[in-house]
Amino acid sequence: MNVHEYQAKELLKEHGIAVPDGHAALSVEEAVEAARKLPGPLYVVKAQIHAGGRGKGKFKELGEDAKGGVRLAKSVEEVEENAREMLGNTLVTIQTGDEGKQVNRLYVTDGVDIAKEYYFSLLVDRASGQVAMVVSTEGGMDIEAVAHDTPEKIHTITIDPAQGFMPHHGRAVAFGLGLSGDLNKQAQKLARQLYNAFMATDSEMLEINPLVETDDGKLLVLDAKMGFDGNALFRHPDIEEMRDETEEDPAEVEASEYDLAYIKLDGNIGCMVNGAGLAMATMDIIKLNGAFPANFLDVGGGATTEKVTAAFKIILKDPAVEGILVNIFGGIMRCDTIAEGIVVAAKEVELDVPLVVRLEGTNVEKGKEILANSGLPIVPADDLGDAARKIVAEVKQAA
Ligand code: GDP
Ligand code: MG
Repeated sequence: MNVHEYQAKELLKEHGIAVPDGHAALSVEEAVEAARKLPGPLYVVKAQIHAGGRGKGKFKELGEDAKGGVRLAKSVEEVEENAREMLGNTLVTIQTGDEGKQVNRLYVTDGVDIAKEYYFSLLVDRASGQVAMVVSTEGGMDIEAVAHDTPEKIHTITIDPAQGFMPHHGRAVAFGLGLSGDLNKQAQKLARQLYNAFMATDSEMLEINPLVETDDGKLLVLDAKMGFDGNALFRHPDIEEMRDETEEDPAEVEASEYDLAYIKLDGNIGCMVNGAGLAMATMDIIKLNGAFPANFLDVGGGATTEKVTAAFKIILKDPAVEGILVNIFGGIMRCDTIAEGIVVAAKEVELDVPLVVRLEGTNVEKGKEILANSGLPIVPADDLGDAARKIVAEVKQAA
């Protein structure tokens, strides 16, 4: 789960990390109010969307010459003008895709005089099974480009979470940032604080780009991006409350309400499967037969008719879906329950794409009987290979 910049900064502040003063705003009036609470004379108006690259982004509704999603303002009036231009419009950045994201929230912050921009991030490094700190003197810009063109300017320091943050990790960070004197000391302290915040919040990713050196020699977190481990969210109700569902894929939000593991993919064959392993195998065999899955969907072990109905509806809502493959192994989940769910959902939603169903396991005969007597044009399949071949053929024929 991801949060907005202003929320990430609130969390960092709770862990004693200095960030510029600022307030979130949902309307032009609130943006003006936010600016009035700040000392001025320099303000920054920042679009709050779950994507980076806002500064260099473009608003779809405004001309090519219009400013991006991070704007400096030199008076409260300028804050007001910028807020009016940004709210409700669609910001396209390198991370949003062409469709962009509508800006519904702003963050109005105290403007900082920047001497230099650095890069700092923390992430769970699956390769080493440790926490990696990545730092660079080339902050503020596209870090992927830095990694590609000048990899020597990126330093990675791994920390064994069982051992924890040691003083030498702090020194390595300060060295990687090329800092000396007081700034070197500040970097060591900040790296420890950020590591502690990362661990305490069960983060998966924490990116500060840029981390800045101010004109008066202070290190300051100017931008912050945080992502959290969904499986640990139950330990953090305060973070869970920060969820902004308007930033997430609506189908994935709906799926999470029914406790379904759903991920949207680019293909045209919808999949409904129980068990993550079987779901992966199903996706593989669809590809083996020359087509692509439209989604990953695991209905889980003990799904009810209601859950299966919801899953079916979510798949059918995707306009890219040209056929559906249901592949269920009835262990804990009984095949007749699945069959009932399919029939109920198919009758509720107008089923206008071919549907191939492969059932195996507990109550399989009962399940097949329910499907056969439903009056629905369901194509039964005997095994996984047969099911994949049939759905691919059906979709090709329909096209
Ligand atoms: P991003 O484009 O989504 O990564 O948004 P950032 O928060 O990183 O802002 C983009 C850029 O705007 C930064 O790299 C800075 O150069 C600039 N910027 C942001 N806040 C300030 C500020 O307080 N003062 C100044 N001078 N520049 C700022
Ligand atoms: Mg940034």
